[in-house]
Amino acid sequence: MNSDLPDRPRWDDHDDLDLPALAGDAEAEVCVIGLGGTGLSCITEALALGARSVIGIDAVGVAAGAAGRNGGFLLSGTSDYHHELVRALGRERAVAITRLTNDEIQRIAAEVPEHVRFTGSLRIAASDEELGDCEEQRARMLIDGFPVESYHGPEGRGILIPTDAVMHPIRRCRTIAARARARGARLHGRTRALEVGAGMVRTEHGTIRARHIISCVDGRLELLFPSLAGFVRSARLQMLASAPAPEVAFPRPVSTRYGYDYWQQLPDGSVVLGGGRDIAAEAEWTTDSRPSDAIQDYLTRTLRERLGVRARVTHRWGASVAYTTSGRPLFRDLGGSVQVVGAFNGTGNVVGALLGRAAAQRAMRGHSPLAHHFTD
Ligand SMILES: Cc1cc2nc3c(=O)[nH]c(=O)nc-3n(C[C@H](O)[C@H](O)[C@H](O)COP(=O)(O)OP(=O)(O)OC[C@H]3O[C@@H](n4cnc5c(N)ncnc54)[C@H](O)[C@@H]3O)c2cc1C
Repeated sequence: MNSDLPDRPRWDDHDDLDLPALAGDAEAEVCVIGLGGTGLSCITEALALGARSVIGIDAVGVAAGAAGRNGGFLLSGTSDYHHELVRALGRERAVAITRLTNDEIQRIAAEVPEHVRFTGSLRIAASDEELGDCEEQRARMLIDGFPVESYHGPEGRGILIPTDAVMHPIRRCRTIAARARARGARLHGRTRALEVGAGMVRTEHGTIRARHIISCVDGRLELLFPSLAGFVRSARLQMLASAPAPEVAFPRPVSTRYGYDYWQQLPDGSVVLGGGRDIAAEAEWTTDSRPSDAIQDYLTRTLRERLGVRARVTHRWGASVAYTTSGRPLFRDLGGSVQVVGAFNGTGNVVGALLGRAAAQRAMRGHSPLAHHFTD
């Protein structure tokens, strides 16, 4: 069914930066592993805080993982809805986190305004029970001073968060990476970290010695740090894209079924749709990121039957993300000046950028005002 299409994201629409591989041993003040949105935010912040030398490495290249293969939603909060976060962490911490993520959306938009659109987002209920949960979320957000509205429209019933946005994930990352290189960061593609220890990263091509090492890997994190395997688990998320579909109009990104399904329509009218992980949950707990027939069939049916898109499918793709047993992102100092940031439980565009910056601040200043809300 999907063998006719390569595993390629809709976003991959212009040239890669084609970073050189590391050639031999190297030294730097800061070494960042992973050149997705998190790693690139981390590098940008380290440079802004005066890091004398920064090396960033990626097993493949810029935005090769989930950071270049996601839905493009920039959403308030974490993978937990705000009211869930209040229940889990208490009001003060939850409010601080939601506020920080709203500020981070603004920061990302200011950083790459050409790749971000402020559309707001819809959370649409798929059942009466979910509508009740939407209402709970709305009430909690209003009490805590966050903008949110009830919504009843062509997409269904639910809530509208007017401060949310969408972005072009790959263009965002490539723009930030090009800027970081221009400011002196040495970025290497095709350079996999094989082992991380105090002050050193062993790669396929040489060993990097660094005062600070920050791992910014989401999916497959447990392969790089086997000691995290009990706490972190990788899953595959999948998407497809259609050709321009003038028969539908989705002015805002939509998520439904508690975020299991999500889609947005791009300015050219094409639709990107992801989700369905829960319909084959066991099979999707995997470090394999290639699209599967079961989920792609589900997505095709959803595209046709739920969204009403008739246009042909042009892209199908998958990527790995990591989940934690706590449900909170991993933001951990492993000692020996090694920090690990990742495992965003499926929603990491905003919180990843935030925590990438927090890790750089901890490295360069010894502390971060962003950090303590996320430290487990
Ligand atoms: C289909 C899908 C849809 C999603 N939709 C959304 C969404 O709409 N909104 C949202 O907020 N989140 C979404 N997410 C989650 C979000 O994409 C991720 O949480 C986020 O992009 C993680 O970015 P990152 O930079 O931390 O990690 P990654 O994107 O995983 O980047 C890590 C990089 O590290 C590299 N790497 C891995 N191992 C090594 C190693 N050993 N050595 C060197 N390099 C290595 C990889 O090649 C990769 O480039 C989605 C994810 C997927 C898969």
